[in-house]
Formats: sequence, structure tokens, C-alpha cells
Amino acid sequence: MSYVGPEFEPPQQRRPRRGPLTVALAALVPGALLGWVVYEAAGGSAADGSGRGTSAAPTSVSSPASPRSASPTDDAKASAGAPASGSLKGKVVVIDPGHNPGNFRHTAEINRQVDIGTNRKECDTTGTSTNAGYTEARFTLDVAHRLRALLEKQGATVRMTRDGDGPAWGPCVDQRARIGNAAHADAAISIHADGAAQGDRGFHVILPGSVHAGAADTRPIVGPSRDLGTRIAGTFLRATGEPPSNYLGHGTGLVTRTDLGGLNLSTVPKVFIECGNMRDSKDAALLTSGAWRQRAAQGISEGIVSFLRTS
Ligand code: ZN
Repeated sequence: MSYVGPEFEPPQQRRPRRGPLTVALAALVPGALLGWVVYEAAGGSAADGSGRGTSAAPTSVSSPASPRSASPTDDAKASAGAPASGSLKGKVVVIDPGHNPGNFRHTAEINRQVDIGTNRKECDTTGTSTNAGYTEARFTLDVAHRLRALLEKQGATVRMTRDGDGPAWGPCVDQRARIGNAAHADAAISIHADGAAQGDRGFHVILPGSVHAGAADTRPIVGPSRDLGTRIAGTFLRATGEPPSNYLGHGTGLVTRTDLGGLNLSTVPKVFIECGNMRDSKDAALLTSGAWRQRAAQGISEGIVSFLRTS
């Protein structure tokens, strides 16, 4: 995604100073990772990513010991890495690889406005790329394929919003949401990588904020999506070692937004993940590595599987 534009403040002013310490602590206590992320998220960002401006200091770095409010046994399961035995047969996951390599050649089509409930917005965007030209659209499809293989191995049914042999552009963001809805997905994930400034690093998971306007009504999915996203943030961090974003989310790796059609129009639990910043040289080195993308897919998969086993 490339919603991060030049209007942003200089990175230094947005960097939560305690981020690295929090990460280090969390890494030392992997079993409590999810609890940590949940805890950090409690003081987290406001809708529309506006949380980036104010620097609400993380309340406490001793929070890894905090139990999750939901069900502590799930923590144990998730923290064990490999999911417990048992098939995910009957569970449906929709994977949405962000953008489309053909979008660059179909600007008229993707600039067409679609209704996302709260307002109208472009059908899709081109996405970003590394400075060397590796596109976000290629990255997202590759991670999606790896993730699909991992989930299918667990017995889940996987649908993709686009695949290599798909349409020349899009689909539009409203359609991407509707594919998940029509599939009655138990979980849906939209995969992206960001296009922020050099020096901005790390991943973040985007959760749907509560919206109720037009065709958008996220109220039923806000809670389960937060659960899904929190799990993915924890397992992604552990699998990849990629730190939570140092430019959004105050070191929690979680951001809530109400301006994304793919979330606003979803009726199934859904989150986005921005796996890293393609415009940062250190992150780009990771994002362009197949071995790293496999770890990314593994981390996302573990979070989804953990969510599915309790839903
Ligand atoms: Zn994107």
C-alpha cells in the first residue's frame, strides 16, 4: 500500500522511543507475545491511522506477563508455534494479494471511483515497489502463494481475490471485500508492503475500525478482526524477527483504520498486513528474499491457524 505520503511528519518525531525495548522484551517472552500485543494495542491508535501523530507512550514494558482477556489456553497453543493437531477442514480463508502488476497499465480503470460505504474511493492503486523495481503486487502474490500452501496443508479451504492468471487489473477494493463475504470466510487477510520513507521500518497489521454507513457495517467484525490481527502480529514478529513499525502504531504493530474499502465492506473477520517498507533499504533486502517471504507466510499462517482453532 502506498497511502503513506509526503504529508507525513519527519520519521524521528513519530518514533516511539520505547519500541525497541518493548520488542526485545517481547522476544524474550514469546509465550506472552500475544498478551503483550493486546496490551500495547489497548492504548493504541485511533481510526484512520491518526494515532500516528500523538505519541501515547506505551504504558508499561512489563506487560508481557499480562494475560489475554479472551482465553489463556489459546495463548499457550499459539505460542507453541506449530498449531495443535487437527484439521482445518471446513474452514475457509480468503487471501487478498494487494494490488495487481497490471494496474500500472490500467490507470483509467483503477482510478474509477467505487463506493466503500463511508465514501467513494479509487477502485485500486498501483501499490509501491522497492527502489530497484520489485513491485508490491509481485511481493503480495508470492507471499499469498506461500501462505495458501501452508494453510491448505492444514486442511483449510483457501480462496484468492486474484492469482497469476487473473484479470489484467484490480479487482477493485469493494470486490476484494465481497469475495471474502461471498466465500463466508472464517478469516480474510489482505497482504501488502508499504511505501514509506527510508528509515521507516517494520510491519504493521491494520484492523478495521467501527464504521456504519451505506454498505459498510463493520461493527460485527471489529472484535474478531482485532483478535485475528493481534494473533498475526505476534506470530509474524516471532517468525520473521521483523520489528513492529517504527512510524505507525506506537510500536504495537497494530493500526486501526476506517478508510479502507477492503475492510469497511467486509462482513467477515479481516485484517491487512503491511509486511515491511519497500522504500527502506534494510526492509527491502528482506522483502526481496524468498527465504524471508517464506518466514513471513509462516508467521501469517500461524496467526490465522491460531484464530481458526478458537473460532
Ligand atoms: Zn498496498
